[in-house]
Amino acid sequence: MIPHVKPLLGNEEEAKVIEVLRSGMLAAGSYVFEFEQAFKSYINTKYALATSSGTTALHVIMEAMGIGVGDKVFTTPFSFIASSNSILYTGATPIFVDIDPKTYNISPDGLEAAIKKHPEGKAVLVVHLFGLPADMSPIMELANKNNLFILEDCAQAHGAAYRGQNVGTFGKAAAFSFYPSKNITSGEGGIVVTDDPVLEEKMRMLVNHGQRKRYYHELVGYNYRMTNIHAAIGLEQLKKLDSFNKRRRENAQYYNQNITNPLIQKPQVPPDRTHVYHQYTLIVDNREKFTNYLTANEIGYGIHYPIIIPAQECYRNNPGSSGSWPVAEEIARRCVSIPVHPALSRSDLITITKTINNYR
Ligand SMILES: *Cc1c(COP(=O)(O)O)cnc(C)c1O
Repeated sequence: MIPHVKPLLGNEEEAKVIEVLRSGMLAAGSYVFEFEQAFKSYINTKYALATSSGTTALHVIMEAMGIGVGDKVFTTPFSFIASSNSILYTGATPIFVDIDPKTYNISPDGLEAAIKKHPEGKAVLVVHLFGLPADMSPIMELANKNNLFILEDCAQAHGAAYRGQNVGTFGKAAAFSFYPSKNITSGEGGIVVTDDPVLEEKMRMLVNHGQRKRYYHELVGYNYRMTNIHAAIGLEQLKKLDSFNKRRRENAQYYNQNITNPLIQKPQVPPDRTHVYHQYTLIVDNREKFTNYLTANEIGYGIHYPIIIPAQECYRNNPGSSGSWPVAEEIARRCVSIPVHPALSRSDLITITKTINNYR
């Protein structure tokens, strides 16, 4: 079986973890600080704040932005549920905007229409799905014209760029995830980046029980801290991010050139974007038939995502969940992600491509 995802961890990560265990500094520690410093210089922001997950990173962004009960935040219905859950946690309402059929990211035209309908909206949470940046130029223009904050969910897009600019630098703040399936991992973990010192200070307090000074709690905060163990892993992984992304892009390039089956639609990448291929997602005629065929041929796959967020059971009573998002619904019915991770061998790529080209 060729696995659909596989984190690549080496001696460097092992040695650092053992060093942390022997040091006894398991929770807060110097590697958390070092990881933050290294990540902010990689993305090119003034601040970075490590968290326990991508989900908690998104939550503190929403809360520190003052988003709360009665507020509306525009976002995509086609993402991992954590994107819009971060809006719900604050009591605000996600307003779902249909996606672009080529990129699967939020549609700028759809956003324009949604803003007309909900002019009181406060922010846009943009998700750069599968490692492909959303169409930031028209989105930024709409946000500026309508006084909306831009926030970015970069959980799948470490190192991705739009017109040469890194994702994570377009809005007030951005969240990344280091879950094991992501482009780099720390085990569990996340990080927030921003250029705003006031926002950074508030987020740093929220992550650590609302305290600036120990046991003096100014805010009701959380324990959303990253541990020194996770930061040690993340620090070593960050050094490998560019080489991992290069492998992902080469693997994708191989599929782009060699998958030729007319029943299969491959990802489309606008020329102004650097895709980092967190997923390589196909659109197929008959998903059940295609995935059974992959399984019979021992090729792992993932479905990202089978149900759009507003149709999830836990969103049933959410006021933003009635409506229709025909493009997202269609993609959710037909999408299949095939392995594209950096641990794939040349022969894996050849096997996967041949198998897919033989599908009838
Ligand atoms: C993984 C992911 C998250 C959440 O990250 P965790 O670290 O798993 O909490 C949020 N948004 C998107 C788009 C993701 O893929």
